[in-house]
Amino acid sequence: MTLWLNDLAASELESLVHSLDLPRFRARQLYQWVFQKGVRDLDEMTNLPKALRQSLREAGYAVGPAAIDRVERSVDGTEKLAIRFADGAVVETVLLHMGGGKYTQCLSSQVGCAMGCAFCFTATLGFQRNLSSGEIFDQVLLARAHLAREAAGDASQRITNFVYMGMGEPLANLQNVLRSMDPLFSPDGLGYSSHRVTISTCGLVPQIKALAEAHRGVHLAISLHATTDEARSALMPVNRRYGLQALMAALREWPLEPQRRITIEYVLLRGVNDSLDDAKRLASLLKGLQVRVNLLPFNAFQNAPFEPPEDAQVLKFQKKIEDAGIWVTVRTRRGDDIHAACGQLGKHGDASDDSGDDEAVGCAADFLSGDSCER
Ligand code: SAH
Repeated sequence: MTLWLNDLAASELESLVHSLDLPRFRARQLYQWVFQKGVRDLDEMTNLPKALRQSLREAGYAVGPAAIDRVERSVDGTEKLAIRFADGAVVETVLLHMGGGKYTQCLSSQVGCAMGCAFCFTATLGFQRNLSSGEIFDQVLLARAHLAREAAGDASQRITNFVYMGMGEPLANLQNVLRSMDPLFSPDGLGYSSHRVTISTCGLVPQIKALAEAHRGVHLAISLHATTDEARSALMPVNRRYGLQALMAALREWPLEPQRRITIEYVLLRGVNDSLDDAKRLASLLKGLQVRVNLLPFNAFQNAPFEPPEDAQVLKFQKKIEDAGIWVTVRTRRGDDIHAACGQLGKHGDASDDSGDDEAVGCAADFLSGDSCER
């Protein structure tokens, strides 16, 4: 069985180097090859002694647990990459073009999803498995390499932000998600600021607390979607376990840095949760919290039991929230034509799907300019 260096933490690489009787600085070189340069073959690690590369190979180690299977480009510049892992599992990651060559990357954290939200296409695929930390981070390395190839030396093309809003529930795979952020932030990795990262959750309360305690300084987004326990439990089974009261209490405890806000995602489903009474309840639920509400008009998929709201209703809903003094935005749809929008990703069986026999599964990807963790 292959052991992926990409799954090791810095301290584990140090132990590995130590166990091979090599000086400590080799561990740092190894880390940079794996997580910064993103090499796909041990032999590309040219400043490491051949003997070291050979010992690693003999011990079963390799680099690059994933590969790009397929790329689709939307008319709006958004790109969807199907990523295939060693066991054949496929997820999707989306590069949302935010203008000026800047991209926000939407990362998947699981193959499939176990949360069962009624409005989400990924939920219909069921849960297959967690991604390892190396598999999560490899989506970043592969996307960077893809952009670099496409941009042909144009350094303005770059990924500036990351959202764990792809396929799966990141907080149900918290340990690997946390580990995947180490090389994102490490100066020996990609050196991003934690302010550039958003983690979105359907509301796993104990894990929200655990994420807060991990002190990673990332931005939090909550998929709220309903304003009463009855309505939310009908849409999101997770609410039967962690109801609104517990969720709102966890949000009040979330360690917000000055000037920052929690993002509240609210999918608008026609006739289900888009009334002005819903808007009123939403505003009162959020009273006193530093939030930004992001309204997501429902993205349809085949056989979906919901419809998107009328545009006029979206505006009325938005105004009601705004009038309550809450900052609210409407997420623009991106990548709709390639099934890259929120809740649409995965293997679609309809006629417009050209993914053939691909096992592609998905990532959420509707974004509004500036809809990231920069604020
Ligand atoms: N599991 C995490 C990460 C997914 S983020 C979470 O629930 O937050 C993807 C966002 O898109 C979530 O807010 C999700 O509820 C929303 N979404 C899912 N299906 C959708 C659909 N069909 N239309 C619009 N938004 C959808």
